[in-house]
Amino acid sequence: MATRREFLATGAAIAAAFSGTGAGSRAAEKEETDPRKGQKKTAETEGKRPPLRLHLVGCGYPPPSGSGDRTRHGSAFLLQVGREFLLVDCGPGTTYKMARMGIPTKNVNHVFLTHHHFDHNVDLPCFALVRWDLCDGTEPPLKVYGPPPTRKFVEQLLGEDGAFFPDWHSRISAPVSISIFKNRGGVPPRPAPAFETRDVGPGMVEETASWTVTAARVHHLEPTLESLAYRFDTDRGSIVFAGDCGDCPELRELAQDADTLVAPCVLVGNAKKYYDVIMATDEVREIAKATGVRRVVLAHNGGANSPEKRKPFIDAVSNVFSGEVLFPDELTTIDLLS
Ligand SMILES: [Zn+2]
Repeated sequence: MATRREFLATGAAIAAAFSGTGAGSRAAEKEETDPRKGQKKTAETEGKRPPLRLHLVGCGYPPPSGSGDRTRHGSAFLLQVGREFLLVDCGPGTTYKMARMGIPTKNVNHVFLTHHHFDHNVDLPCFALVRWDLCDGTEPPLKVYGPPPTRKFVEQLLGEDGAFFPDWHSRISAPVSISIFKNRGGVPPRPAPAFETRDVGPGMVEETASWTVTAARVHHLEPTLESLAYRFDTDRGSIVFAGDCGDCPELRELAQDADTLVAPCVLVGNAKKYYDVIMATDEVREIAKATGVRRVVLAHNGGANSPEKRKPFIDAVSNVFSGEVLFPDELTTIDLLS
């Protein structure tokens, strides 16, 4: 069996032969100021429904990709439910790309990792430390969920015996760092970064007043690597993040009647012809049709960064699936209530 590296090289080469059509709007979550009143406008103050949005932070491959300008890198998605931002995967450059979108790290209290390939998790320490370092010590612990070994992963990076201990230990100890912390409104002693980390599996993962998360174990590179897909249900809609996986019964069951499916789509045609651990347009459209989802968002693609190159992907899925098919650029936002 070919290795993942060989597969990705094949996928990149094939995808580079195509290209893409950007959907999704340049509408990063930014507070707007009403110039007449000088007050912050929010959905609540305007009497609108609270937003349900998908912010596309990372829609690419493990290496930076996108023919020409390299506009795609790794996987990361932010689901905005009202004022909450739920981060699904934390691939390369997530923190930097969120900043470019105008979304502060302090807005995120929950991270859901689909699996432990670096294109889905490598920016987690950067994200967690930036979030912690910009706060005054009153922020809630960062909750991190994922398949095993998520707890070990976080502990080995950010725990007291972790790789980043010298960093945060110096920042809670050095007088200059304490001074900066106090200037932010912090009250010494400065607390260490705090986490609530859980290894999770299939079934209910988390339930709050405004959203629930359910996971399914999906087919990717098991048994050496466990992979999950997540379904978020809110009172305004549902969305499934497939992560990296091939067509499998578990994903189909999880996505049944969901409003939106975010699916990897590496090429036009049939992925199973090469490997069954990821999807192409044939698999995505069959799943979309079978599950009755209303909208499909194509992601995890390395080459399609122009309308001409994305069109074959969209046409191939739309050929059988009658719902909405989007192929967004990174750093864009989709209004899931539209
Ligand atoms: Zn993967």
